[in-house]
Amino acid sequence: MDIKQRRWWAVGLWVVSLGCQGAQFALVADRVIDGDADEPLEQVAVLVDDARITGLVDIDAVSDSYKVISLPGQTLMPGMINGHEHPLLYADDYQNAHLTGSSAYKALLGLATLQRLLDHGWTTIRVMGDGDVFYGNQDLHRVISEGVFEGPRITGAAHYISITGGGGDVNFASPEQMLIADGLIADGPDEIRKAIRQEIKYGSDWIKLLVTGAFHSVGDDPKNVAFSPEELAEAVAEAGRHNVPVAAHAHANAGINQAIRAGVRSIEHGTYLDERSIALMLEYGTYYVPTIFVGDYYAGTDKLLAQAKNDDVYLNYRADWLALIGKAHAAGVRIVVGVDLGGYNIEPEAYAREFAALAEAGLSPMAAIQAGTSVAADMLRWSDRVGRIKAGLLADIIAVPGNPLEDLSALESPAFVMKDGKIIKYPD
Ligand SMILES: [Zn+2]
Repeated sequence: MDIKQRRWWAVGLWVVSLGCQGAQFALVADRVIDGDADEPLEQVAVLVDDARITGLVDIDAVSDSYKVISLPGQTLMPGMINGHEHPLLYADDYQNAHLTGSSAYKALLGLATLQRLLDHGWTTIRVMGDGDVFYGNQDLHRVISEGVFEGPRITGAAHYISITGGGGDVNFASPEQMLIADGLIADGPDEIRKAIRQEIKYGSDWIKLLVTGAFHSVGDDPKNVAFSPEELAEAVAEAGRHNVPVAAHAHANAGINQAIRAGVRSIEHGTYLDERSIALMLEYGTYYVPTIFVGDYYAGTDKLLAQAKNDDVYLNYRADWLALIGKAHAAGVRIVVGVDLGGYNIEPEAYAREFAALAEAGLSPMAAIQAGTSVAADMLRWSDRVGRIKAGLLADIIAVPGNPLEDLSALESPAFVMKDGKIIKYPD
């Protein structure tokens, strides 16, 4: 039977194949972006056996035992990895929302967010802390990995660790109010050590530090450094004793450079980086997650309590920042897609606009796609699991309309999504 005949046979059978263990699929589209090669592959079928990719073969060499899933006019690529997200944040005014929504409410909205992200091709999410006193995001991680609900695979930190008065504290309440902050507050090496041990005890596999002030919180300055060099050193040492990497939220230049020197695995935002930061990231092998689009999304609106801070960067400094991101990429710094938009109130198509923002900063479309697939997987230390279309890896594969190398907006609405070899979304 030829490919076309088998396609219709497959369409008839694909519904009963959903969730069926041991299914063998051959995915055929116009081209394959595998996450490694500089050019897309053509005339190639991707073979999937149960949860894993078993190989890439010539489309004429697919054996009859495979159900062919034909995706004409589409491009196959690895499932997208969002290297910086907060699925439980559900309002622009997230610190007020933190004080009024229960952990369960946040988790339920977060589940809806995660399922919409999976449906839009995001098969892996690194959580960079959520405004939740408890561990709602870890519970979501748990129910998804137990197979109770569909969702992306989750890694990351349950909370952001902040100093008193820092970006993870609630700075707009009167001193009489005894509030529990959205972040985990720790001052001094002893408290930081304890906070990190607690995070790891309850399942965080990354530690997230707010090394400088933040843009979307009230009452702190992103141009100031929060943690002392002594606190930073102890944070990285303690996480390292548990083999857990550290992600450093850092805007201020001194904070970026101190965090790199302390040995963090990734710099988040890195807004005021300079040539020295680029040299240090290369020297220390630090990954860089710029999170550009989130500020564009809010620039010039009146949605944020801390609107002026956001607009200062995006209306006055953005071009300089993007030039530095391009310079870092050209020098060899590994850039990763992180979206940072938060959860429930965001339209799911918006997240993929980070790819176009990276292209604007000077990454080629292929490099931008790799930043959200293979390079992101390397940062997660998951290159043996996800991020590439390669034999042996988990079958997290999406198909997007047309050719994303010509138009990155194709990534906003994938027509086909497979996670762990299971079909999540199929074209109409
Ligand atoms: Zn963030």
